Amino acid sequence: MTRWSLRQRALLNEMGVRVWWPEREATATGQAGAATPGDPVRAEAAAVASAAGTVASLQNPTDRAQPVAPSAVADMDWAALRAAVAACTACPLCAQRKNTVFGTGNPRARWMIVGEAPGEQEDLRGEPFVGKSGQLLDSMLAALRLSRADGVGPPRQVYIANTVKCRPPANRNPEPAELAQCEPFLVRQIELVEPKVIVAMGRFAVQALLRSSEPIGRLRGRVHRYRAVPLVVTYHPAYLLRNLQDKARAWEDLCLAREVAAGAGPAP
Ligand code: SF4
Repeated sequence: MTRWSLRQRALLNEMGVRVWWPEREATATGQAGAATPGDPVRAEAAAVASAAGTVASLQNPTDRAQPVAPSAVADMDWAALRAAVAACTACPLCAQRKNTVFGTGNPRARWMIVGEAPGEQEDLRGEPFVGKSGQLLDSMLAALRLSRADGVGPPRQVYIANTVKCRPPANRNPEPAELAQCEPFLVRQIELVEPKVIVAMGRFAVQALLRSSEPIGRLRGRVHRYRAVPLVVTYHPAYLLRNLQDKARAWEDLCLAREVAAGAGPAP
C-alpha cells in the first residue's frame, strides 16, 4: 500500500481525492479525534486536518466512498494522476484490489487503447491487458507494427488504459456508479496523451466514452468522436478469445483506426 505523509493526505483530500489510511492514523489527523498534548505527530496531523477542513467517515470502504471530482484531477500531471489513482478510495472497488491498474505505454502516443476493468492477472501485476487477452492484443498490435513496449517511440508505441482502475471482485462487471467514480481519471489520461485515435475495446469502454449502450456490433465499423478525438469501437480481446468468428471484424476495426491515425498527419 502506498504510504502518504499527513500533509500529502490533506492535500489530496483538499483536491477531492479521498485516501484511506488506518483508523489509528485517521484519528491522529483529527478525522475522528483530537490531538494529544505533547504528541508532535498528532499535533501536526490535527493542524493539517484543521487547515484542510476535512471531515470524512473512514470506517469501511463503502462509508469512505467519495466522488472523484473532475475538477480535482483536471490540472494533474502524470505523476500526480498516478499517485491519486494509487491512493484512491472513491468507490468500493478499492477494498479488495492488490494493485491499481493505471495504464502503460507512451504518454504521448498516437494510439490510445481503452479497455474495461482489470482482471485477476492485471490486478496482480498492476498492468492492463495481461494474460491471454493481453497476448491477443499484443499480437493484433504487432500485426499493425504497434507495441506497448518502451523504446519504439510515439509513432509505434500505444498507450493502454482501462475504464476502471481497480479489479471488480470475482471479475464481475463494474457497476455504473463505479464507472462514474473512476471516469475522471480516464478523462485526464486522454487529455494528457492527446491521442490521434482512440480504440474503445468492449462494452464498458464504449459506455464510458460514447455514453452509448448500443451493442458493439452496431457501433463498430465507423468513426465516432470522443470530444474532438476520433474513436473506433471494437470487441474486447477477452470476448474475441471466446468468439473467434469476430476476430476478422476486430481486425477490420483496427485497420480503420490505422487509417484514421495515418490521416492525422506525421508524428510529432
Ligand atoms: S475503481 Fe477508480 S474510483 Fe474506484 S477506488 Fe479504484 S481508482 Fe478509485
